Amino acid sequence: MSEPVPGSTRRGQPGDAKTSAIGLTQAQASERLAADGANELPVSRPRGVFRLLREVVTEPMFLLLVACGMLYLLLGNRQEALMLLGFVFVVMGITFFQQRRTERSLDALRSLSSPQATVIRDGTPRKISGRELVQGDLVLLAEGDRIPADIELIETSALAVDESLLTGESVPVAKDVVAGAAEPVLVFSGTLVTQGTARGTVVATGERSALGRIGKSMSGLLDESTPIQREISRVVKQVAGIGLALACVLAAANWMVLGDWRQGLLAGLTLAMAILPEELPVVLTIFLGLGAWRLARENVLARSIPAVEVLGATTVLCVDKTGTLTANRMVVRKLWSPLAAYDVASASASANASPGALKVPPLQEALHGTLEYAVLASHRRAFDPMETAIGEAGQSLLANTEHLHSDWTLVDDYPLSREMLAMSRVWQSPDLSERLIASKGAPEAIVDLCHLDEAQQKQIAAQADVMAGQGLRVLGVAQARFGATVLPETQHDFDFKFLGLIALEDPVRADVPKAIAECQAAGIRVVMMTGDHPATAMAIARLVGLPEGQPAMTGLELASLDDAALSARLATTHVFCRVQPEQKLRLVQAFRARGDVVAMTGDGVNDAPALKAANIGVAMGARGTEVAREAADLVLLADDFSSIVTAVRYGRRVFANLRKAFVFVVAAHLPIIGLSLIPVLMGWPMLLMPVHILFLQLIIDPACSVVFEAEPLEAGAMHAMPRSPDARLFDRTVLARGFLQGLGLLALLLGVYATARSGAFGGGQSEDSARALTFMVLVLANLGLIHANRSWDQTRWAGPVQGNRYFRWISLATLVTLACILGIGPVRGLFAFDALTPLMVAVGIGTVLLAFLWFEAVKAYMRWRMPAHA
Ligand code: ADP
Ligand code: MG
Repeated sequence: MSEPVPGSTRRGQPGDAKTSAIGLTQAQASERLAADGANELPVSRPRGVFRLLREVVTEPMFLLLVACGMLYLLLGNRQEALMLLGFVFVVMGITFFQQRRTERSLDALRSLSSPQATVIRDGTPRKISGRELVQGDLVLLAEGDRIPADIELIETSALAVDESLLTGESVPVAKDVVAGAAEPVLVFSGTLVTQGTARGTVVATGERSALGRIGKSMSGLLDESTPIQREISRVVKQVAGIGLALACVLAAANWMVLGDWRQGLLAGLTLAMAILPEELPVVLTIFLGLGAWRLARENVLARSIPAVEVLGATTVLCVDKTGTLTANRMVVRKLWSPLAAYDVASASASANASPGALKVPPLQEALHGTLEYAVLASHRRAFDPMETAIGEAGQSLLANTEHLHSDWTLVDDYPLSREMLAMSRVWQSPDLSERLIASKGAPEAIVDLCHLDEAQQKQIAAQADVMAGQGLRVLGVAQARFGATVLPETQHDFDFKFLGLIALEDPVRADVPKAIAECQAAGIRVVMMTGDHPATAMAIARLVGLPEGQPAMTGLELASLDDAALSARLATTHVFCRVQPEQKLRLVQAFRARGDVVAMTGDGVNDAPALKAANIGVAMGARGTEVAREAADLVLLADDFSSIVTAVRYGRRVFANLRKAFVFVVAAHLPIIGLSLIPVLMGWPMLLMPVHILFLQLIIDPACSVVFEAEPLEAGAMHAMPRSPDARLFDRTVLARGFLQGLGLLALLLGVYATARSGAFGGGQSEDSARALTFMVLVLANLGLIHANRSWDQTRWAGPVQGNRYFRWISLATLVTLACILGIGPVRGLFAFDALTPLMVAVGIGTVLLAFLWFEAVKAYMRWRMPAHA
């Protein structure tokens, strides 16, 4: 088709195309894909048994198990030793399962976030996953793309590539295909297009690419450890350290008093097992893994999972206008020149009023030039919806006129730049020796190019303001002629003549006003950043429901303010217009300096630094460039603004539920620790043995934690202010709740145990039936503990409780397991239990109810004491 022909050169010009323009057929591509393999680098991860073994062997729980098993053998208890060996397999199973599950969810995320490529297959351009690219594919590259394979370029337009990944050189290199040059021009897999567009043929994929040959792996996606993970592993280490120290003291004391070091050691190891917060890493894996999976189902890809959790604390959400708040589906609405005005909407309405005349009325002659040159100033195969809309308007309003020039050839173009919001294209018509230059851009930029007198400038600016005030995007259009051969460096050197204005409508997305209202209810300020005209920006701000009353701040004004003055204005300004990408970075930094937690959306190459600087960078998956996707923490796969609100809600939920799970873990551990420690200190026989603790620690508690992950957000949580950014997961509130609930339960358990031992509930003065009763109360109270902590706001009997199917299943499974352990003779023996009398069962259930009342009492107390933290 159209693209540049060799001719008078200012920059390098493309040579003739070597391959056909239709690319491979789908069938050829599939064949090659099968033969060559996918376009990806092998992930070198040692899998399999050895890795699993290594991981299991380094588990502290495993080491404790082995130590206890050996002790039992030394003590001559073969049966106990064998049983502990059985638990070794449980530990291995859990580790294995967790590992598989995490790997699978990571794989799924990786393939979702793998780069896309635009190829021409069967003659039509389409987007495919970069993995499916094969040698010989015809690829289109545009600004912001991560180059998906090694590609030999066929034609280029102002292409520049950042090859720092391969060369370490951070300045982008220009890549020009020069006519007649012998050397092929190559770009390499993994490098970035920072500017321009190109077309080329794939010459190497996967391991055969330059990147594959040097064996570099591209992204460490999700591999780095996160702040929560670090916090957790610190807690685990501290607690494990305390546990070990206590265990040693206990063992030594026991040895000195009783003189039997083996019994002392066993008691010590049992205590260590009870203290070890084995569930915490499990809880975290489950929350993070399931969290990413749930969000992906909502079309939000979390490239960094803790970002989701931070999102719950967001105080400012900076969004760009075009494409995020608006649909980026443009239509030409109005045309204006100093001599005439045309309104597409009212024109077609009046035309349709007369029966049979469905055609839009003709465009006035005085506006033909404006539309003609707007079309000429656009790309023929446009990526940009605005240019597509201009092209379509040209096709319908200029049909059958001499104003569409399919026979003209493009000689050169001057792209949009941050200094000059206008772009020009230079054309050669077959029957003119002069070249014609078409330019379009921001009205003030076009006026600047046209050297108009003051009255004209005022008239145009006033008209642009009127149309922009209706929320339209307004562009100026200008024309110039040029006779000499060598084109000038800048657009300023042409002698432009002003033609008119063209106004496009970009409708606000339907779900945006509601989503913005939800953000505001949740205490999150929404701030708009756009490159558009102030009046357009304010009109859209009004439509979507941003706070009114404060004027928009322009990029110019922003540049003139120092940091202190800017900071003072941030509290009240909600619209920033005509901002340049670097200024977005400054705004993000200024908000953060005020103590805000900033989430920012972006899609362009230039947005990447600001996306990185924000606490949470959000990229648009479909529309955004690869560069923006890579810089972001979240990718909205459906480009849908309301998914941000979904993600915020989810972030608050993850944070709240993790805290609930932590309270449970603390409260469930205290009784186990107490029951392992106190009898030894009191000189009673050992109450809990390793098998009981393992059962609770490895099976009951981790399973219970799953329940919390599935809990919905508490009713008022999206109407509360964001939590303070330095709020910790494990804070005083969590510890206070956990300790109060856990110590109360421990007191009840000790009471039941002491009374049962005295024979008050029948069953003789049997040690083993007292132990069985205590265990039963402990397990059932754990269920009560979960049920109570599922909500901190709501008293559990105060209203209908929302269903949680995990809780139902886990309760059922726990009851069945408990019945088996207490009811089946041989199993009972393994747990050193005696049969329970009916009275004991009744007392047990009564105690569990009492415990539950206590948990609720703690909740009520906490609500009263610290309502803000509830
Ligand atoms: P937004 O923040 O709304 O996405 P942009 O940064 O894309 O705005 O554009 C800023 C301004 O640059 C537009 O208002 C317009 O005046 C001008 N502009 C953008 N794209 C083009 C184009 N293809 N041709 C001419 N002018 C353009
Ligand atoms: Mg834009």
